[in-house]
Amino acid sequence: MAHRNPADLPDSSTACPVWCNGEHEAMEGAPLAHHSDGIVVAGVERVIRDGQSTHTAAVVEITVGLEQVHDETWVWLGTDRPGYRPTILSIESAKRLLRQVSHLIEPTEPR
Ligand SMILES: [Zn+2]
Repeated sequence: MAHRNPADLPDSSTACPVWCNGEHEAMEGAPLAHHSDGIVVAGVERVIRDGQSTHTAAVVEITVGLEQVHDETWVWLGTDRPGYRPTILSIESAKRLLRQVSHLIEPTEPR
């Protein structure tokens, strides 16, 4: 785990975005990545157990945050379930997803 200070790098485009938490974990040779703190949202998830036809509801923590690599900003979100890999979306994809979910839940909301 390496913590690199963007001020030590020659490229001024590596300046931290305002939401960067200042932790720049990167493997040697990997591009500098800026990360926000994760925002934790308590949720309930439907879980279907292997071999069972019924589902249960499970409490889950959903964490969402921002990451910037090569001047591209991404939205990542994931749960605290073991083995779950986060979903990483472009900013525009995340906005479209939010609009569509809002419209599905509240059809009066604009798409
Ligand atoms: Zn940063």
